[in-house]
Amino acid sequence: MTSLSNATADYRARDAAHHIHPFSDMKSLNAEGSRVIVRGEGAWIWDSDGNRILDGMSGLWCVNIGHGRPEIAAAIQRQMAEISYYNTFFKTTHPPAVALAEALARLSPPQFNHVFFCGSGSEANDTVIRMVRHYWATLGKPKKTVLIARKNAYHGSTMGGGSLGGMAPIHSQGGLPIPGIHHIAQPYWFGEGGEATPEEFGIQAARELETAIEELGEENIAAFVAEPIQGAGGVIIPPASYWPEIARILRGREILLVADEVITGFGRTGNWFGSQTFGIEADLMPIAKGLSSGYLPIGGVMVSDKVADVLIGPGGEFHHGFTYSAHPLTAAAALENLRIIEEEKLVDRVRDDIGPYLQKLWLALGDHPLVGEARMTGLMGALELVPNKPSRAHAFPDTGKVGTIARDFSFRNGLVMRAVRDSLILAPPLTLTHEEADILAATAKKTLDDTLAEVKRLGLVA
Ligand SMILES: *Cc1c(COP(=O)(O)O)cnc(C)c1O
Repeated sequence: MTSLSNATADYRARDAAHHIHPFSDMKSLNAEGSRVIVRGEGAWIWDSDGNRILDGMSGLWCVNIGHGRPEIAAAIQRQMAEISYYNTFFKTTHPPAVALAEALARLSPPQFNHVFFCGSGSEANDTVIRMVRHYWATLGKPKKTVLIARKNAYHGSTMGGGSLGGMAPIHSQGGLPIPGIHHIAQPYWFGEGGEATPEEFGIQAARELETAIEELGEENIAAFVAEPIQGAGGVIIPPASYWPEIARILRGREILLVADEVITGFGRTGNWFGSQTFGIEADLMPIAKGLSSGYLPIGGVMVSDKVADVLIGPGGEFHHGFTYSAHPLTAAAALENLRIIEEEKLVDRVRDDIGPYLQKLWLALGDHPLVGEARMTGLMGALELVPNKPSRAHAFPDTGKVGTIARDFSFRNGLVMRAVRDSLILAPPLTLTHEEADILAATAKKTLDDTLAEVKRLGLVA
């Protein structure tokens, strides 16, 4: 393996010399060296030392159909032979844009018949900010500009997306949040529910929206923006009472509801969209990630008839768009991805087959002495690591340290999980087999055992 290790050292040195990574402390990363991923197939990836690792995060929540699908490569190549790039500004379109928009209208909930394309989830959320304000201005209510979002939400890392998101480290750099964004509590029962039951806490968290509307004035509010399940915030699955209470609060009020489906779209929760899993009737839905399974970067905003009826016509020209809005190759990749999801019935598979199968194994990890709660909806889950079970308190000193220890063990054991604070999170490809689910659960169990031993050695638990 000497030559492979040399290759790794070489990649690491050149990476450290020239590459600034996103969301990374570069000094410590360069000292440690990046992990170099060289190949992917199905639910598996390989690093530059030849280790095969189960990709429990689908890349970054996106590779829903698994890695290395030749059908996608072929679809991109076919489109490339026609035309690789043309824009959709100035009264032009092209066949992949037309076909993708039509497919999305068919696959999304009935109120959605239009889509605005962009290049990523962040751009989709930036588009939402401008679109909802333009919507209300067109209706003669230009004062309705405030967007209400939630603490510990993630909506991207552009100025708009990072501002809508409620993450303190992001807000601490670069002058965020931009004006006109208001954050309320998240429905995170395990971490913040105190003595309340999950149902009580779900209502309580939702009522923060009502309080904010009363304080800020409905006449100033454009929209409420939320992920059906918070992803990057730690796979926070709201109590069952939460979304119905949000619906009650918004009923009869002039406030648009935006469901950020960038992670929860395209089968992740066992329906095409997380909104369907939770009974959310959204007016707009940002999409990205699973839209193309990450094969090429594409995002969009699904626009309901209510909003489209104002935008198309009375709204006039929407002075907004990107060079790569509906880029033909990304649209062709997305279209082929949707074809595969439909043909292989991956959404049904998550709801009826691999979802329940993995959930059973995953929830059983909740019996481990280090795990305060195991939760999973569809194929997205979390394990909350705690020192004093059954207490839910996140009482490890130096929050994040134990999560990182566990994450590193998991990688070494051959499974990618991600650490958020002191929890481990998981979102494997929707094509995961039962056999792979068994390997996943056994590796997660070993990771918990290794972590517990290390945490004991460090004196962090008795
Ligand atoms: C990843 C993510 C985004 C941002 O998408 P990018 O493509 O990284 O810009 C937005 N919203 C949610 C819910 C996400 O998970």
